[in-house]
Amino acid sequence: AKRAGRDCVRVFEPSMKAEHDERARLLTALRSAVPAQEFRLHYQPQVDRTGRVVGAEALLRWESPELGMIEPSRFIPLAEESGLIVPIGRAVIRDACAVLAWWSQDPATKHLTLSVNVSPHQFQHPSFVEDVRLALQTAGVSPSLLKLEVTENVVISDMPSVQAHMQALRELGVRLSLDDFGIGYSSLSYLKHLPLSQLKIDQVFVRNMLSDPREAAVVRTVIALARDLALELVAEGVETPEQREMLSDLGCGLYQGYLFGRPVPLESLCVVQ
Ligand code: C2E
Ligand code: CA
Ligand code: CA
Ligand code: CA
Repeated sequence: AKRAGRDCVRVFEPSMKAEHDERARLLTALRSAVPAQEFRLHYQPQVDRTGRVVGAEALLRWESPELGMIEPSRFIPLAEESGLIVPIGRAVIRDACAVLAWWSQDPATKHLTLSVNVSPHQFQHPSFVEDVRLALQTAGVSPSLLKLEVTENVVISDMPSVQAHMQALRELGVRLSLDDFGIGYSSLSYLKHLPLSQLKIDQVFVRNMLSDPREAAVVRTVIALARDLALELVAEGVETPEQREMLSDLGCGLYQGYLFGRPVPLESLCVVQ
């Protein structure tokens, strides 16, 4: 028993240390990635009921020379905790506005909207609204073409700055979208008080909708809720024609997922059919 106990300790400790080392290594690389401009955006199309592309979501990619391609799920949480998300996110919004400016020069693309993810730390930062305003003004684009995607923990925050920022962004004409909707815990009653223009139903519901009637019920309810509150609804993670058809039957307006296109570099994004 004593030996087993010692073995357990030996197995446990190195893995904890390895995890810690891995984190430290990632954080060091992330710090230098900001000035070295190792990030780029990929773009995933969003389509309407007829299949026409109406916009795209910008998704961040980090290509580290030492570590290779790193998934957002690995570095976004670290960027958020370390505060590095503020300069990273600022660059994302600047780039997004530059893309909107470019699209606006062509009649074939000037209606396209661009959605950008904003993390909680970034959203509550004192300069956030001013950063967004300046980025839009510098690029000379209409604020209504920019959509900021936030998650539930942002919009239900009772921090005064968060509420003030939502209001100020709305007044600026920027659209707010509630991402990953349906997986949070809070009551739905808060929704009608928020200056939102869009809900995005989380991909877990879309994924299981056809096999699990309970998931389908969530999707149906969220679509009805969006309609009652006059909010746009985007279904994300749409991968099959069957999912699209069921969503369409339920009244979903906008679609995003591998069925229509994966996130790709701007030059590979196909926006006109
Ligand atoms: P998200 O905002 O929920 O983005 C949707 C994720 O689903 C993306 O993963 C996208 O590539 C993936 N996806 C899209 N369509 C499909 C599909 O049909 N099937 C499946 N299985 N997946 C699909 P990605 O690009 O790895 O991003 C992960 C998360 O990282 C995002 O989730 C978002 O929360 C965060 N993120 C990405 N870019 C940024 C950014 O610029 N700023 C911040 N703060 N967060 C970001
Ligand atoms: Ca998103
Ligand atoms: Ca999402
Ligand atoms: Ca998600």
